[in-house]
Amino acid sequence: MSTFYDTWQQHRFGDVTASIGEKTAAEVGSALARARAGGRLGLDDLAALLSPAAVPFLEEMAQLSHQRTVERFGHTIQLFAPLYLTNVCANVCTYCGFSAQNRIPRKVLNDDEIRAEAAVLRSRGIEHVLFVTGESKHASHDYFANALRLLRPSFANLSMEVQPISEAEYASLAREGLSAVIVFQETYDPEAYVRYHLKGPKADMRFRLETPDRLGRAGLKKIGLGALYGLSEWRTDAWFLGLHLQYLEKNYWRSRLAISFPRLRPHAGAEIQVTPTSERNLVQAFCAYRLFSPEVELTLSTRESPRFRNHAIRLGVTSMSAEARTNPGGYAAEPESLEQFAIHDTRTTPEVAAYLRSQGYTPVFKDWDSVFDSDSAFAGAKTELAG
Ligand code: SF4
Repeated sequence: MSTFYDTWQQHRFGDVTASIGEKTAAEVGSALARARAGGRLGLDDLAALLSPAAVPFLEEMAQLSHQRTVERFGHTIQLFAPLYLTNVCANVCTYCGFSAQNRIPRKVLNDDEIRAEAAVLRSRGIEHVLFVTGESKHASHDYFANALRLLRPSFANLSMEVQPISEAEYASLAREGLSAVIVFQETYDPEAYVRYHLKGPKADMRFRLETPDRLGRAGLKKIGLGALYGLSEWRTDAWFLGLHLQYLEKNYWRSRLAISFPRLRPHAGAEIQVTPTSERNLVQAFCAYRLFSPEVELTLSTRESPRFRNHAIRLGVTSMSAEARTNPGGYAAEPESLEQFAIHDTRTTPEVAAYLRSQGYTPVFKDWDSVFDSDSAFAGAKTELAG
């Protein structure tokens, strides 16, 4: 069975970097003309829009991106909160505070602790929770199934960003109410991938590259992708992510797709060399993706500053985390325990929501309801229609 791994293998990271560097203003102009005319952009257009040659066109890209976003999503921003279930991790990723070689207190939340975290989030109006864990035997299919059963009655939407698992396990969790899975590839550069992922299951780059295929086959409602900007050349990683997006749109069109834009943040452990990615670079990436794919959801986390996040709502972003704690127990019990990374936007959920409203945007806390998952609900609707 062919997967994205086969598509990825057809392109060399260094060649793509060179080709993006050679794009001209004329090629950027023709990609923008196609976008203005409402045409579908190709991967060559995406390369042009991500290239240094597109930098002088950023204002025009931003205006078009805003227009396309409002046409498709209206003036809305979805808000969600991460819930860290455990910081135990068997992997050595040199850019992460949870990395196995870091000597830090480890924690796996039990049922009572999960309920306590959830109660705090519910009291703040959060309806969409993203489970986050390190990668270890503690974060097993059964542990997630239990967490889903515990929280499903309290939240409209449960998604997760955890270790890659099998297609059958994803399908089983979807039956328990899981609606979306986010899996960051971190980098599509095979040399950088080996350099940053020293030990553990995550060192298997192919298994990770094929995870969105397993999600698509398992029928998840939404698949989230992302590259961790700072690990390699950002323009090239962004192009490969576009390649991945296009592949998934063609092969798993029933699933909605989303892209996140994490940049490296300070964390516990050794300092690593970071390839600089500026806020301006991120803006170029949002706008390029919006013109490349009008349907894709774009997410910006609290890793970024309040000023930048306020600005980003007019540039194509459609979804944001709010009031995030990146440590297990961080909402209810242990605000001081070790974080995966330092957050930058520390505003409360009501503060973020109030800012959005002041700008004419509606904060959306709930974009799904578990009642839609029930076969009997559809059967009832069919009966009414038939009557
Ligand atoms: S990035 Fe994920 S897999 Fe790697 S050390 Fe951190 S939590 Fe573990």
